[in-house]
Amino acid sequence: MTKHLFFILTATLMLFSCGTKNPIVSNEKTASWDRFHYPAIHFVNKATGTEGATIYDRIVPDPHLLIRESILGVVKTLYRSSEDSIPAIRKINYTIEDVKGISAKGGGVPEISIFYSSRWVEQSARTGGDDKVLYETTGVLYHELTHGFQLEPQGIGSYGTSKIFFAFIEGMADAVRAHNGYFPPTNRRPGGHWLDGYQTTGFFLDWLTTKEKDFLRQFNQSTLEIIPWSFDGAIKHVLGEQHSVEALWNEYQNYLINIEG
Ligand SMILES: [Zn+2]
Repeated sequence: MTKHLFFILTATLMLFSCGTKNPIVSNEKTASWDRFHYPAIHFVNKATGTEGATIYDRIVPDPHLLIRESILGVVKTLYRSSEDSIPAIRKINYTIEDVKGISAKGGGVPEISIFYSSRWVEQSARTGGDDKVLYETTGVLYHELTHGFQLEPQGIGSYGTSKIFFAFIEGMADAVRAHNGYFPPTNRRPGGHWLDGYQTTGFFLDWLTTKEKDFLRQFNQSTLEIIPWSFDGAIKHVLGEQHSVEALWNEYQNYLINIEG
């Protein structure tokens, strides 16, 4: 990107942060996010000319705005205020690419990259209209942005070596997506295991907000306090020693079976 374009983007971002979108009436909840440091966003549509990229351009006229709004949704789900220890992501490279797969995040503090597949946009468009494609696009964005801003378990290995680590990372990304309403409710089905990750873990973690409305924030925060980290240790830390992941999982399964009834 040229310096000139970067200046324009920066100026645009500044306009967003002091524009009319901010509510005039301030309250404690909004004030606590006023000082949040948004990363710079470098958006490139690398799939120009494909059907998926054309659909993306139509449904997302302002990618910077969608990404910024989604970042705020994610950090508000994971943290109480901008004063919390939020990973200092300072730049996000977001690209639309004509590749297989759906989306993925790479890199880490201070700069991450996220690609989103134009082929996935085309596939979503085959089963629904613009509304559905925007819903799916925003949901996928929430998932990937969570990877940028979530905390990580300590003392149990890494994403590639620990199923528990993996289940936390992918489960929380889908929990944040689910909690913000970006999965069809019909996706939530009984079965599987809390270590399966993705929606199986994500819907379970989201359901635990019925026990403690602040559950997702405290579960994320538990990675700083429970070392070595575990699902059972984190659940006891947040909900109390009388709880166990196994008993809550069984209760959740019974709940799902009953509502399917
Ligand atoms: Zn993921």
